[in-house]
Amino acid sequence: MKDTLTLMPHERLKMLRNGEIVLCTHCKVGIMQPIGDAVKTNTFQCNKCKRQMIFN
Ligand SMILES: [Zn+2]
Repeated sequence: MKDTLTLMPHERLKMLRNGEIVLCTHCKVGIMQPIGDAVKTNTFQCNKCKRQMIFN
């Protein structure tokens, strides 16, 4: 699996938009999941620590 923890934010966003698995940079075990439509939303949330990642 690709080491998503070292990716730049725009690369992480690109993967999230593609529906790929991106690990949470905060707890490093959770997976970032879209709030709403992965293609349109700007907010993703970790399924473990619930930390939100917001792209503007
Ligand atoms: Zn997390």
